[in-house]
Amino acid sequence: MSSVQVAVVTGSNKGVGLAIVRALCRQFPGDVYLTSRDAGRGQAAVAQLQQEGLHPLFHQLDIDDLQSIRALRDFLKDKYGGLDVLVNNAGIAFKVHDTTPFAVQAEVTLKTNFFGTRNVCTELLPLVKPYGRVVNVSSMVSSSALRGCSQELQQKFRSDAITEEELVQLMAKFVEDTKRGVHEEEGWPNTAYGVSKIGVTVLSRIHARLLTEQRRGEHILLNACCPGWVRTDMAGPRATKSPEEGAETPVYLALLPSSADAPHGQFVSDKTVKPW
Ligand code: NAP
Repeated sequence: MSSVQVAVVTGSNKGVGLAIVRALCRQFPGDVYLTSRDAGRGQAAVAQLQQEGLHPLFHQLDIDDLQSIRALRDFLKDKYGGLDVLVNNAGIAFKVHDTTPFAVQAEVTLKTNFFGTRNVCTELLPLVKPYGRVVNVSSMVSSSALRGCSQELQQKFRSDAITEEELVQLMAKFVEDTKRGVHEEEGWPNTAYGVSKIGVTVLSRIHARLLTEQRRGEHILLNACCPGWVRTDMAGPRATKSPEEGAETPVYLALLPSSADAPHGQFVSDKTVKPW
């Protein structure tokens, strides 16, 4: 088994994820895994970074596919005995003018952004080693969507006592409410992407709390963040940040020094803790 440190970035064949891998290849003292749901796109991205003189490794990972997540888990366990850095970056967003019915957008968006990310956490968090760093790429849109929720929902999502099961039930309820056409009267905002990212931010707060309660001596730091508005296929060419600039906050959180005991369980944007 290798004693080398290891970092994994989900959804890193392009966009912010690729820029995170590029930065980690330069700054992380260990193996860096570029992962992609499509092996061809992933290998092409690895080749691109190799042309830049960098040496990422590749592993397939589709966060919608539990078998794929478990194959990565078993690989990391066997080869490295765990994991040092996990960046949950993979995500999707329908374009604003997409005419797909809202209930379908809700189901598809929540499936990847919330349920897929959660499945990765369920399988990989137990592998994270002492002094490990976990970064969940959420969005500022989670904060604005939170403010668009009913007072009752806001209270639940801001609670320091909400459980993972309660959060999962709320995310599933949102999808069901959109199917029944009652999501607005049930207190939800009109954004599937926003609700999915509320899920990512609240999940991060819950997981950080559990790490503090159950693995206190291990000094693991886990945070949610926003990369900013970044020029990628998701956000388009008018966005203000380059992918490299978008990677700065996630990479900062992934490389928090072993002496750091904060931030932990926070929502971070521009390397600054934001109120939730
Ligand atoms: P992007 O260019 O569309 O890249 C998204 C990445 O996620 C792609 O590699 C994509 O793979 C991958 N992905 C999607 N579904 C996946 C799945 N089921 N399994 C594995 N990988 C999957 O988007 P981006 O702008 O870089 O976004 C990266 C993250 O930042 C997302 O979580 C996004 O919500 C967040 N974010 C972005 C912005 C922004 O302004 N760009 C702002 C706030 C937050 P394929 O190539 O196979 O589709």
